[in-house]
Amino acid sequence: MISDNIVSIKNKIDEAASASPYGQDVCLIAVSKTKPVSDILEAYDSGIRDFGENKVQELCDKYDKLPEDIRWHLIGHLQTNKVRFIIDKVCLIHSVDSLKLASTIEKYAAAADIVVDILIQVNISHEDTKFGIDRSELVSMLRQISQMEHIRVRGLMTIAPYCEDPEESRPVFRELRNLSIDIDALKIDNIHMDILSMGMSGDFTVAIEEGSTMVRIGTSLFGSRNYNH
Ligand SMILES: *Cc1c(COP(=O)(O)O)cnc(C)c1O
Repeated sequence: MISDNIVSIKNKIDEAASASPYGQDVCLIAVSKTKPVSDILEAYDSGIRDFGENKVQELCDKYDKLPEDIRWHLIGHLQTNKVRFIIDKVCLIHSVDSLKLASTIEKYAAAADIVVDILIQVNISHEDTKFGIDRSELVSMLRQISQMEHIRVRGLMTIAPYCEDPEESRPVFRELRNLSIDIDALKIDNIHMDILSMGMSGDFTVAIEEGSTMVRIGTSLFGSRNYNH
């Protein structure tokens, strides 16, 4: 049952948060990609309001069918030609990984007269994941984004490479947190480091111990995904 899974995940989140030296609040994002509207409603009825999708089309389809008070998070790679479809539907874009994408978001946000919250996706490990910017490019990119009036950078996101043992991901999470502290210390206009989006089903407790403020959980909450339908 989805509601039982949520209870168990929330307990683990609370436990990890009390073990964390940073005393942060942790937001649970239910990653509903490939899952039907009925599953999302079940999670909604258990009190979940933050949902993550990785495809623009799927997010838009579900957006129209589900309650208005859901906060939609775009967590997957975003192509510039799709930005306009989601610009006024999402509360946070986790996966900004190029200046070109940021400029496109700025353009459509300006046209809609809104300010869009984003995270920068950083590729810490250079394994598995092909998306995310290299840490060496981060500061120069942030300085340019800080000029964009319709974008507010709220923090960083990363995906740790899949490991059997989540302890192996700990250095990745620690490095992202250290990076966010270094950036915060630069006091760049318009750049905030209050969100660290890190941790998925396999590694979220370790991520929280390392300071995560947003965990993106799919499989442990909704069950395994079937991509062949
Ligand atoms: C699918 C996905 C998740 C959730 O992964 P699970 O292992 O199913 O919890 C988290 N983050 C991103 C970016 C994803 O695409």
